[in-house]
Amino acid sequence: MFVSAIIAAAGRGTRLGAGEPKQLLEIGGMPMLQRAVETFVRTACVNEIVVALPADLAHDPPQYLRDRSKPLHVVAGGIRRQDSVANAFERVSSAADVVVVHDAARPFASARLIELTVDAAFESGAAVAAVPASDTVKEAALGGQARQDLIVERTLPRERIFLAQTPQAFRRDVLREALALARQSGIDVTDEAALAERAGHTVRLVAGEARNAKITTADDLRVARAMAGGDGDRAPIRIGTGYDLHRLVEGRPFVLAGVTIPSAKGPLGHSDADVLCHAIADAVLGAAAAGDIGRHFPDTDERWRGAAGLDLLARAVDLVRSRGALIVNVDAVVIAERPRLAPHIPAICSNLARTLGVDAAAVSVKGKTNEGLGEIGAGEAIACHAIALVMKTR
Ligand code: MG
Repeated sequence: MFVSAIIAAAGRGTRLGAGEPKQLLEIGGMPMLQRAVETFVRTACVNEIVVALPADLAHDPPQYLRDRSKPLHVVAGGIRRQDSVANAFERVSSAADVVVVHDAARPFASARLIELTVDAAFESGAAVAAVPASDTVKEAALGGQARQDLIVERTLPRERIFLAQTPQAFRRDVLREALALARQSGIDVTDEAALAERAGHTVRLVAGEARNAKITTADDLRVARAMAGGDGDRAPIRIGTGYDLHRLVEGRPFVLAGVTIPSAKGPLGHSDADVLCHAIADAVLGAAAAGDIGRHFPDTDERWRGAAGLDLLARAVDLVRSRGALIVNVDAVVIAERPRLAPHIPAICSNLARTLGVDAAAVSVKGKTNEGLGEIGAGEAIACHAIALVMKTR
């Protein structure tokens, strides 16, 4: 199978207001267009790449579009996206079995997604990457008293709604026919799959990727830069560590992440002395360079006397969020000679996930003994080490 890739990069991207075509804006030190091109160079099944650029740029293309390990052609795009794709299609090798079209404004598509889409198109004629709608979808029209408010006409059944991305792949004859139809009928479309549908071809859906989002607004650009990382002092992925230790005494409840575990002894402290929550709170605060729980919730302050560990953790998470960071994952080790923690770990993790606002799969807690050594080994203390990863979104 011979596969040609068309990368549509001829737009002016004025909505981003950057004064420069958006596909040339850098994400993690690399222009968006270059990221998209690198993915197609890396994708094993792709034999050649055709990039449609604004006419002035096509005249003098950037260095990263020259001397590549795969044949790479640059063409001048047209006014509309479909014109650019049509121009690029003219340059596609006559040996091509499948042509895959992609937007430069989606720099995070994976090679795997490209391959799945190409394979589906080779089998079925046309295929498009798409993600299921997660929000409820309303169809609206102008109405209301002044006839200028948007009024919901109906709610569409969400199970049947998919949001199209690129890559979109076509057998070469299918795309040729679709582009010819567009030329003859003069219709405007936002993607090539719509043309293939109109030409009567079956278009298959391939499971798209959430990270393959289109970069349209300044907010999208910020998120994309955070995802890309490697941006100097704006490094978006940050790690933090936390540690806590409490003495164990008789007559105190033994609480970890809000779960009370039957035990002869419990940790001593002003609050519920929940070492796990305290260590994790310090880890997430540390990742955001936002201090520690001793500073934010001092035990000399009556407000925090007896405060539940989960409550302090929730406040620490709010603080970190207010600084524009999202928690990615948390891992912790609780060290205590007894009681046995294993049966309680699922309940502990579920409380933590809820408080941290992350998926259960992003929380890990392990119990360990101290092999009978030292104060912890003698059952006189409990300790916890925690580590947290956060992602800065601004
Ligand atoms: Mg503590």
